[in-house]
Parts: sequence; C-alpha cells; structure tokens
Amino acid sequence: MRLSSRATVIGLFLGGLLLAGCAPRWAERDVILDDVIPREGWNARPWLEGMQRQDITHITIHHTADRHNPERSLEAKLLALQSFSQETTTLWDGRSKPVWADVPYHYFIDVHGQIAEARPIGYCGDSNTPYDPCGHALIVLEGNFEEEVPTPEQVASLMRMTRGLARHYGVDASRIGGHNDYAETLCPGRNLTQLLPHLRRLVSDGN
Ligand SMILES: [Zn+2]
Repeated sequence: MRLSSRATVIGLFLGGLLLAGCAPRWAERDVILDDVIPREGWNARPWLEGMQRQDITHITIHHTADRHNPERSLEAKLLALQSFSQETTTLWDGRSKPVWADVPYHYFIDVHGQIAEARPIGYCGDSNTPYDPCGHALIVLEGNFEEEVPTPEQVASLMRMTRGLARHYGVDASRIGGHNDYAETLCPGRNLTQLLPHLRRLVSDGN
C-alpha cells in the first residue's frame, strides 16, 4: 500500500510536471482540423517576441503571389517564408519591411492541398499593407492567382479550413473575405477572389 501510494504520488507529481511543461506550448494551439500539419511538421523555428493576442472575428484569404511549385517541399516553402518574415527586407516598391515575429499567416495551403499551421492562431498576424489584421484568421494559398488558378486540392482544403474556423469561432459568412477587401492590393488574385462568394455561401448554408 505504502509503496503503491508513494508511486501514485510520484506519478502524479511527474505527470503534473509534464503537463505544466507542455501546457504553455500547446495552449497556443487551436488546430481546427485533424490533418493540419503542426509547426513541428515543417521544423518551424521559434517565433520571436512581441506578438499580440487576438480573438477571431474575421477569416481573410491571401495568396503567396509566388507561382505554384509542386517540386519544392512544404518544409522548404515555409522555412523560406519564415526567414523572410523574421528579417528586415526591402520590398519590391522600395519600402522596408520590419521584422515580424513569425510567418504573417495562420494557415498555409500548398499546391497539393496540404494545410500547415503557421503563426499560432491565438496571435494577430502581420501585413505589408495598411490594414489591421488583428482579429483575422489568415489563410494563405500557394500560388499567384492573378496568373494561375488554385488546384482542386487547394480549393477543397480552403473550403474545409474556412468552414472549420467559422464554426469554431462563430464567424459569420459576411466576415469572410480576401485581403483586397481591406487594403489596396491584388491579393489573393482574381482567380481566387472569384471563389470567395461561393466560400461565403458554403458557410452561410451550414454545409
Ligand atoms: Zn495578402
């Protein structure tokens, strides 16, 4: 009895330590779909300091503006995006981009339709354009949809992700939009922008 109760106490203590160790890390997570690849899956580096907490009220869609690249791995794409994000850079129009704590978006959908967790959803994203992305769940699709069209796999993943987020956070269909609804930009490109009414209908119909 003595031994087993001592073992139980030790077990509980160790279990508590483990939970305490894991909790802060996993508490940041809010993975909506089972098949979202977590940050560990693409060997994300840690995010930097300075992120702001958010409550989700909008879902906003972007494109990477880089054309589909089916040969490059998801990991390589996301690590490159993270490096770009965490450095200061001179943008195409001559403005300088400040250091961001992490990838500016919360979910990345590659050309094959794989969905990866990017910035933890509990924190505001970032933008090069003058709109405040706080409160927005930001989904980015790989591609330049001014020039090409999203793959059927990307569209299917975007539908599932958006519907999952809308249900989870109670986001009304009217608050689902594209980057170009909030800022003067071509993002997410005309070929993706024209799918957004369908996406809103899907959510408002509860399908
Ligand atoms: Zn955008």
